[in-house]
Amino acid sequence: MILVMDPGMEEKQQQELCLMLQKKGFYTRLVSQYGQLVLSIDGPGEEACARELSGAKGIVEIIPGRYSYYLASRRCHRKNSLVRAGRPGGNEVVFGGDEAVIIGGPCAVETEEGAISLAHKIKEAGCRVFRGMIFKPRSSPYSFQGLGRAGIEILDKIKVETGLLILTEVRDQLEAEMVADHADIIQVGTRNMSNFQLLRHLGQIPRPILLKRGMGSSIEELLCAAEYLLAHGNADVILCERGIRTFEHFTRFSLDIGAVPSLKELSHLPVIVDPSHASGRSSLVEPLALAALAAGADGLMLEVHPQPEAAFSDGAQSISPDAFDRVIELGRKVAAAVGRTLA
Ligand code: PEP
Ligand code: MN
Repeated sequence: MILVMDPGMEEKQQQELCLMLQKKGFYTRLVSQYGQLVLSIDGPGEEACARELSGAKGIVEIIPGRYSYYLASRRCHRKNSLVRAGRPGGNEVVFGGDEAVIIGGPCAVETEEGAISLAHKIKEAGCRVFRGMIFKPRSSPYSFQGLGRAGIEILDKIKVETGLLILTEVRDQLEAEMVADHADIIQVGTRNMSNFQLLRHLGQIPRPILLKRGMGSSIEELLCAAEYLLAHGNADVILCERGIRTFEHFTRFSLDIGAVPSLKELSHLPVIVDPSHASGRSSLVEPLALAALAAGADGLMLEVHPQPEAAFSDGAQSISPDAFDRVIELGRKVAAAVGRTLA
């Protein structure tokens, strides 16, 4: 159960309230975010306890539901949140505003030369964020796991040579610390959406987090995962729909296009779509990307490879730089039709 408190409540009063609830046997947590103060109480009898507290001084609202989220919800923050990545005045992109943001790059950084030359093409296409994965969470331990720490230098070179912002994935706390000063956006992949320890840690890292929906997770579970980041101090969260597991096997996953307007309705956080992992097929990337923009996505993440058939990973779903150009060109038209532009 979540209690929305008066943010002006004195600290002494807050502590006394928490202590009183703890003495009654409840687990409590006090969180401050978006200028709001939130107190959660967990334990048997919490609803009756919240009813008793209702109307008490300093308690503004009681949010029902045991496993809920509040900071990620529209109830907490009515306007769309803008998540900024990069440097103000320099290359800065804003997620959640009028512009839909395109993120492009390979599934994994394979070689320095290949990654840098692709980054130039990504930039020429008009894209401002490069996805350069060096820590790969692969289903099989025998598959290419990414260049690891050695890849950081390549990401730095791409940034210096092209000015593109860098998005990269981390799988644990150690990797998060390694990339924190190099990446502009840190990705949590589908397999780690429920790695709550990692989310807690990333809550304290001053970088925007791209949080991908777990392949078997509901919209509510995704929002609860986002709540972890918010409750642990990081307000810069971008949600990503990347397909969920269904009985359909023609596509690798099923893109839940309905998740886009649903998330926009439930949450103030920006929502982007990854049609590459969702479909697993390069031929489907363009139509799904356009559908995502039409459905109101705040951006797209696309896997691009100069020679998809020779990629170390996810070649089947990677599009060529020419196909990437085309998605951007068509994407501009779809974005315009729904009152947006493309960044
Ligand atoms: C990725 O974006 O590189 C990736 C592995 O995606 P997902 O976690 O959605 O499978
Ligand atoms: Mn991939």
